[in-house]
Amino acid sequence: MSRTLHLPEQFIHLPRYPLLYPNPSPIHPLQTLTTQLNPSNTSKISLYTKREDHSSPLACAGNKYRKLEYIVPDILSSKPPITTLVTEGAVQSNHTVQVAAVARKLGLKALVLLGKNTGGGLAAASDQEAFLRTGNVQVAKLLGAHVRLLDAADVARLTAKSDEYDTPHILMDELRKEGSVPYWIPSGASLHPLGGVGYARCAVEISMQEEELQLPGSGRFDYVFVACGSGSTVGGLIAGFKLVEKFEKAQQGCEMRPRQVIGIPISPTKPLEWHQTRVLDFARKAAGLIGLDSTRDVTMDDVRLDDRFAGSRYGVLDTETKQTLEMMARTEGVVLDPVYTAKVLRGMVHYVQHGELDSDPAQHVNALFIHTGGQAALAAYADID
Ligand SMILES: *Cc1c(COP(=O)(O)O)cnc(C)c1O
Repeated sequence: MSRTLHLPEQFIHLPRYPLLYPNPSPIHPLQTLTTQLNPSNTSKISLYTKREDHSSPLACAGNKYRKLEYIVPDILSSKPPITTLVTEGAVQSNHTVQVAAVARKLGLKALVLLGKNTGGGLAAASDQEAFLRTGNVQVAKLLGAHVRLLDAADVARLTAKSDEYDTPHILMDELRKEGSVPYWIPSGASLHPLGGVGYARCAVEISMQEEELQLPGSGRFDYVFVACGSGSTVGGLIAGFKLVEKFEKAQQGCEMRPRQVIGIPISPTKPLEWHQTRVLDFARKAAGLIGLDSTRDVTMDDVRLDDRFAGSRYGVLDTETKQTLEMMARTEGVVLDPVYTAKVLRGMVHYVQHGELDSDPAQHVNALFIHTGGQAALAAYADID
């Protein structure tokens, strides 16, 4: 049976500027890891990864390009014409590099604000000088971005008159006075009204790939593990799978078990409820844009976040996360990033090792780990060997 999806008109007609390769980002099995975690090969679990780090030809491919595909048309249609993209992140932010690359591709300038006190990466670095100029900082500069490193006092001054999109109005006014026309992209692009749509599209893409892969058992990815940082990646996926499952239900006349998207928060700073509320909000916003009923079709029951793997701080590589990063490199030959994906894989491995997937009533379980990129930060985490 074909699972060709007929997307709602509303979704098809949302303007999208291609930043990704035209083909879906690859999904491949994690055969060696699966065997390593279950040497007797008695497990009913199959592990896979979707390589969002191979999704785009642009610098340091990662999940932000997919989100930016839906934001670029808004940038290009703004009046007066935008001259400068402005965004923010932690010192080793992947998001800001992806915004900088998009700016260059569009012939625009990029101003990148990096908060030295955002997360604990800088404070924990054994060589702070190096942390401030290697990895993603180096790449952002190579791309010609104007990089401003901010301490707490700078952040307080520039963000004093902020709004629901975290817009630093004081800075934006300063830029306008200098003759620029700035466009603000919030941290991780999540608070942007279009921030979740890219990952809703990704969920549809995954559902098409499920069919090509001829997965065992349910024929779908029963579990999808993904990082929850600013939150619209997991929020968008939740909305997109809701859409897919609505179509599957209509085609098959019966409801199958929903795929479980498990978001792994990578910072312990905010309580779980804070993340849940935000992710629900992003999922609902995306749902409304792709042709679902935002409040009826997406509820808090769809938001599954597991904060056991957040570690000590955002941007800090705790022992378990470091071991996971090393294990993945040495089993699969696949390199993770120290801030997001290593924590997510640690979570998935925990589910496998502690029977949390085995206890699923299904006879076979397919689990997908979304590799969202970020390896450029490794250079700044030089103590990993
Ligand atoms: C930004 C980022 C994430 C988190 O995505 P959000 O949408 O902010 O939750 C995960 N992995 C990497 C490598 C990232 O750069």
